[in-house]
Amino acid sequence: MNLVLFGPPGAGKGTQAKLLTEARRLPQLSTGDMLRAAIAAGTELGRNARAIMDRGDLVSDDIVIGIIAERLHEADCAGGAILDGFPRTIAQAEALDRLLLSRGTKIDFAIELKVNDEALIERSGNRVREMLATGQTPRADDTPETLRNRLEVYYRNTAPLIAYYRNQGKLKTVDGMALIPEVAKSIAALLDGSA
Ligand code: ADP
Repeated sequence: MNLVLFGPPGAGKGTQAKLLTEARRLPQLSTGDMLRAAIAAGTELGRNARAIMDRGDLVSDDIVIGIIAERLHEADCAGGAILDGFPRTIAQAEALDRLLLSRGTKIDFAIELKVNDEALIERSGNRVREMLATGQTPRADDTPETLRNRLEVYYRNTAPLIAYYRNQGKLKTVDGMALIPEVAKSIAALLDGSA
């Protein structure tokens, strides 16, 4: 099973993707994590992506499509994957459909996590405070100004995926305002066809 998880920054994609990987035994493919790993490793990709990510803008479609294409070739993706933070544009969604088709597979469901903007701003502030309190370094893109840009980028570039996947009959919308285990339960019910 191939699943896409999408939603605005702070909607809980990463959290739910992790729970899904455990429940469904599928790898989590997070382009955000892969790009942050490239930055930490100081690769050319990381050096190029850093300023873009720090501003809250999108890394180019070619780059992220290349990363995902390579990753999907690995053996652990043979039975499917949980895509977290990819696709983020229509061009990425089309490329993903083509990539999967060439491997004789497809996206089964695209899960949109819906959360209102005020809650996202509050969650981001909480995340920064929690990280500081536990001696970790907050993400460079978790400042109020950058979050505002990330939200704008989401509504402009990523929200069109709602119609894209609805037209394909694959869209499932989940209320991301609920508690983490409740959201996980709603997703499980959707995947198991009981909702
Ligand atoms: P969030 O959903 O909280 O914004 P992510 O970890 O998914 O966090 O993404 C962090 C940043 O990484 C994005 O703001 C963007 O700069 C970059 N990025 C991640 N995935 C993609 C993608 N599919 N296309 C373009 N840029 C991406």
